[in-house]
Amino acid sequence: MIKNFTVFKRKLSHVCNLKPYKDTKWLMPNGNPTGLFVYNCVADQKVPVILSDPHIATWYSCGPTVYDSAHIGHASCYVKLDIVQRILKSFFNIKLVTAMGVTDIDDKIIKRGKETNTNFKSIAQQYEYEFWLDMANLNVEKPSIIARVSDHILSIEQFIKKIIDSDMAYVTPDGSVYFNTAKFPSYGKLQKMQDCGEPLSVLKRNKMDFALWKGPKPGEPSWPVSWGEGRPGWHIECSAMVSKLFGSQLDFHAGGVDLQFPHHENEEAQSCAFHNTLQWANYWIHVGHLSVKGDSKMSKSLKNTISIPELLDKYSADTFRMACLMSNYRYPMEYSDQMMQTAEETLKKFKFFLKDVYVYVNNNALQNGVYKDKLLDDLQNVEYQNLKFLKSDFDTASCINNLLSLMSNTNNIIKEKNGEYYPVPIILIADYVTTVLMKFGVTLKENTEDSVSNSIIDTLVDFRHTVRLNALTRKDKELLNACDIVRDKMKMIEVQINDSNKTASWVFTK
Ligand SMILES: [Zn+2]
Repeated sequence: MIKNFTVFKRKLSHVCNLKPYKDTKWLMPNGNPTGLFVYNCVADQKVPVILSDPHIATWYSCGPTVYDSAHIGHASCYVKLDIVQRILKSFFNIKLVTAMGVTDIDDKIIKRGKETNTNFKSIAQQYEYEFWLDMANLNVEKPSIIARVSDHILSIEQFIKKIIDSDMAYVTPDGSVYFNTAKFPSYGKLQKMQDCGEPLSVLKRNKMDFALWKGPKPGEPSWPVSWGEGRPGWHIECSAMVSKLFGSQLDFHAGGVDLQFPHHENEEAQSCAFHNTLQWANYWIHVGHLSVKGDSKMSKSLKNTISIPELLDKYSADTFRMACLMSNYRYPMEYSDQMMQTAEETLKKFKFFLKDVYVYVNNNALQNGVYKDKLLDDLQNVEYQNLKFLKSDFDTASCINNLLSLMSNTNNIIKEKNGEYYPVPIILIADYVTTVLMKFGVTLKENTEDSVSNSIIDTLVDFRHTVRLNALTRKDKELLNACDIVRDKMKMIEVQINDSNKTASWVFTK
């Protein structure tokens, strides 16, 4: 019963007269507001997120074309999308059904196969395997459904056939099929452009028309279809696969900002034509571009790409995620060692804080203080503000700043000389910081699970701390110098010691 009701509500939402939002081209869906606002390129502003069921949403991400290894550009796109998905799920209690398309039939894959004398299918399988491994190492959650183009040829054929039958697409003499943009007046609603990015062809009726299907070429893979043979165009895959999985409407559609035009524009046009609707994807989530500082463009041909294993060899997945959190999903990101070091320092501040809290609450020598309501008020305030930031287009950067200032205020209390003891609010603050970071997908894991080496480091750091305090009291320069040498040597094995007068804590720097 409930299931039928949901389907009924979904149908209604596009059959009813949808109204333009504030004189924009974006149509506000019927349904229940979630309280969230996200930027939508069709409206060119933040729009309210409205779902049929406020706790269920469908999400599709355009995935990789598996012809080569993924690089940090892919890493930033999928880590940022992972962060947005985690926010929807854990802060707003929305159950997401996620799907990702994998393009395993493509000119580049076929070319790579020819170059290496390998079947194109093996090339695709090899790089898809590598892609999921990279994603797992970046702590990116796997989608609920992985949709491979090669498994959906029949759905693609049926999708194109219906558009041809409705006279919105035409077959050309070479066996290709083009979408007739002249018959779709709202073409260009995502991004106004002069041409569709495809080469001008004598076979095309209009400049903006794009291929749904490519006619057969000798020596290249092709599939038989009712109008001849050949293989799918790139744009059609996502529309056909999403329609098969989620029906005539999609809540969130995500990908890198470079896909906004022509890929997503074309997806929207052909899907609206297929479903005879005015709006197919309600929310476009576009991730800002990542560039490498100093390089105008990162590309395989320029040999300036950084692979994901290369990235993770130098920095942890948590550090990279922190950099993504600090830049917000929609904005461009300029990758540099300096940016990564800032992210690493920020992550370390959190780790030190959590260790310092542990030492503080277990330090029975402190005097009992009056229970501090102000600390709880501060915490409540930060919780409220953070939710407000996230509701407004997933503003994670402001959230992190907010956490840092909460942490710095709390640090002033726990590091105060002759300070008082407020374990309850301090533990609540530390729990909140941990929970928020983990909801963002930061694991806070040390780079080793080896508890023996951890306890050896604990012992050494404690011992050095006692020696250092004594040396400070006695003003013993030689001993203090020895303590500094120990600290520097520990740093070389990626253990950073944080000295203070009361406690000493440490973190792995990687
Ligand atoms: Zn796509």
